[in-house]
Amino acid sequence: MQISEFPKLEKKTVTIKGWVTNKRTSKGLVFLIIRDGSGFTQCVIDEGIVKPDIFEAARNLHQESAVECTGVVVKDEKQIEGYEFQVTNMNVISIAENYPITNKPHGVEFLIDHRHLWLRSRRQWAIMRIRNQIIYSIHSFFQEQGFVQMDAPILTGNACEGTSTLFSCDFYDSKAYLTQSGQLYGEAMAMAMGKIYTFGPTFRAEKSKTRRHLSEFWMIEPEMAFYDNDMNMDLIESFIKRLINDVNEKCKNEFSMLNRDTAIFENIINKKFPRIPYNEAVKIIRGEIAVNGKTTIEILNQELIKTTGRISEINKEISEKEAELKAPGIKLGKQNFIQNKIDKLKNELKELEEEERNIPQWLESAKNFEYGNDLGGSDETVLTMLFDTPVMIYNWPNHIKAFYMKRDETNQELAKGVDVLAPEGYGEIVGGGQRETNIDLLIQKINEHELPMEAFEWYLDLRRYGSVPHSGFGLGLERMVAWICKLKHIRETIPFPRMYGLLTP
Ligand code: ATP
Ligand code: MG
Repeated sequence: MQISEFPKLEKKTVTIKGWVTNKRTSKGLVFLIIRDGSGFTQCVIDEGIVKPDIFEAARNLHQESAVECTGVVVKDEKQIEGYEFQVTNMNVISIAENYPITNKPHGVEFLIDHRHLWLRSRRQWAIMRIRNQIIYSIHSFFQEQGFVQMDAPILTGNACEGTSTLFSCDFYDSKAYLTQSGQLYGEAMAMAMGKIYTFGPTFRAEKSKTRRHLSEFWMIEPEMAFYDNDMNMDLIESFIKRLINDVNEKCKNEFSMLNRDTAIFENIINKKFPRIPYNEAVKIIRGEIAVNGKTTIEILNQELIKTTGRISEINKEISEKEAELKAPGIKLGKQNFIQNKIDKLKNELKELEEEERNIPQWLESAKNFEYGNDLGGSDETVLTMLFDTPVMIYNWPNHIKAFYMKRDETNQELAKGVDVLAPEGYGEIVGGGQRETNIDLLIQKINEHELPMEAFEWYLDLRRYGSVPHSGFGLGLERMVAWICKLKHIRETIPFPRMYGLLTP
């Protein structure tokens, strides 16, 4: 049986198999927190109930030892997920050596080096479950609407936006690249099937360490024949609403493990996402237009005051705790407890101090944002601080978007692209748009971007034979997971992250 099935098994005697994540002993009792992959539960081993050798074995278990326990499922509101397991028999499957990840706070460098083990921890468990739910909902959403999933190749001969961010490899003595987007192939497939989506790994050689860039990430790229950019935006909005609705219904337990306040989800499900043309977004970023009565400049100044206030609170708390540690005759248990608290506070302090340094820079760059530039990470963060739903920025300057993006008929300077920025400071999660159908313009742009024309002949065929208006977008799965879980860094959103400087484990 699995721990997740406990609600159906009340008062029944069942057997579970799992690993010890925590152990506490008191007179005549051993409490084990067992995880079995499906969930976590507290097992109670009572000296008065089990055989003496079993009690002794339980007392000697280490973290991550594997056991098989037989016992009774008992309802108890105070316990994890409302149940406790009263053990009648136990069989030790394997004894773990000293497990490197303890219940003390560890630095993230250490944890990332131990990713193969870190995945077992409760927080990672919750994130991976949410990721799984999102993947499930993505397929459900598109399949229910008649989209066909088709896969784009991962090895490609041509770069769709230049080669600077591509990983290259040897392909039978000629050069191949790992795909950075399945889009061009998606267009070909949409002309065969009408509505398709690809869902595969994509690769970008971005030689910088940011909290939102991975070298290998999973992208969902729908492509629809006969869709203009307005229809595209409608689809994106209902798609994101569906993902939020599903996690909100199905992952309550996971969100509570992550301390993720989910109040914003109701907003997102019920409110219309603002659609803002790029030129207006520029004015908002610069603080020239207020949204809901506030400008970016005001919001940032408030944030700065809040951050500084919290920093001095924490500093005070830390020195109080450090004084407590020096008290004469303090017991070891208490000492560890206080030290744990101090370590946690220091971690929080580090993050706040970083924010305190960042905010004035964000302010400067927001005020001086120039029309025609692409939005940088901090501009996106600043802009989305004003909203409690995702926002869609459309009608971008032509010159900062890819060669295949459709030019606006009424203004040659603009392209019919859309970026979706997630709220709570997260920034871009979707990039998309309508595709250029004018073959002469496409040829001109391919030349302007100095891309090899022969590599795009097949793509131009799509305009020669049965060309129709069409649109699509790409959603980065890990960006979505990071925002939904409200994680500080994208590295926790994928089982084994690949980033600049990170290739193992
Ligand atoms: P950014 O400007 O944030 O680097 P981008 O504009 O280069 O992103 P697109 O080419 O529009 O990204 O890709 C579509 C989506 O793929 C993005 O909206 C984002 O969700 C995701 N994405 C892009 N690059 C990365 C990356 N390095 N790591 C994780 N996700 C990414
Ligand atoms: Mg983009």
